[in-house]
Amino acid sequence: LLQLSAPLFMLGMMYREVKQALTNMERLFGLLDERQDVRDAPDAQVLDARRPTVSFRGVRFGYDPRREILQGIDFDIPAGATVAVVGHSGSGKSTLARLLYRFYDVDAGAIEIDGRDLRQLTQSSLRGSIAIVPQDTVLFNDTIGYNIRYGRPEASDAEVEAAARSAHIHDFIVHQPDGYDTPVGERGLKLSGGEKQRVAIARALLKNPSILIFDEATSALDSKSERAIQAELDRLAVGRTTLVIAHRLSTVMDADQILVMDAGRIIERGSHAQLLALGGVYAQMWELQQRQADVAPA
Ligand code: ATP
Repeated sequence: LLQLSAPLFMLGMMYREVKQALTNMERLFGLLDERQDVRDAPDAQVLDARRPTVSFRGVRFGYDPRREILQGIDFDIPAGATVAVVGHSGSGKSTLARLLYRFYDVDAGAIEIDGRDLRQLTQSSLRGSIAIVPQDTVLFNDTIGYNIRYGRPEASDAEVEAAARSAHIHDFIVHQPDGYDTPVGERGLKLSGGEKQRVAIARALLKNPSILIFDEATSALDSKSERAIQAELDRLAVGRTTLVIAHRLSTVMDADQILVMDAGRIIERGSHAQLLALGGVYAQMWELQQRQADVAPA
């Protein structure tokens, strides 16, 4: 079984593009506030946590009651720590993120932030505390400045610029014909994958969230841009409680804990070193990825 599962894992990861991505999440989340499935409890409290602990406790969930997707998920992200989730396509990784953002309510168990059930918090304070860096950032047909300010609409120009500088996209912007007022989109500036991710990072910086969800892009950037983006994300994650949905093992090595998911369950967990020593599915995935890297150096 083990010998089979590692290649399957990799296949799942590679075929990633074909399936629904967390990508759509941001777009979906935009609609979310109008959705009535998830409502504030009458006595909902405001979340005001600086470095919260996030806990999944016996979480079960299915989009359709006839098909359970998460089959009892337990893990903690300690205050300010980073937990990375790996697993093949469809194993339920993105679903964890959607539930944390409370796009849906769990069917059983609970998700807690500093010991408080999500369902006891106001949605506006919950969502105000979480920033998502999606794998494919949705840009609006508006100016580049607007697209960054979207992270916090009331931010000043100086704050927008500071976020853009930290995300290393300021220089690119000021070289455009109209600087921050340059339109993006169909008739305007076309941004590369890496530039879009920088916009997403700038947005997240502006939002200054206590919880960060990072859905790693599958579309390969060149290895130099990838390292640069990774460094910026690492900085963004400092002091924030972070959940990483990972598609490349090279980016999860430094996570405090790695969860390996398979068919809605966590089948292995530990640090990179612990998982390698365990010699299970993760170790096989790692070996396979190393071999591929040897064959086709980036
Ligand atoms: P990937 O790596 O491909 O993003 P994943 O591990 O993140 O996969 P999820 O997106 O969490 O997987 O999906 C888990 C399962 O739930 C899949 O079988 C998927 O088809 C199903 N699913 C996801 N979103 C929905 C939805 N909105 N309605 C119904 N089923 C869904």
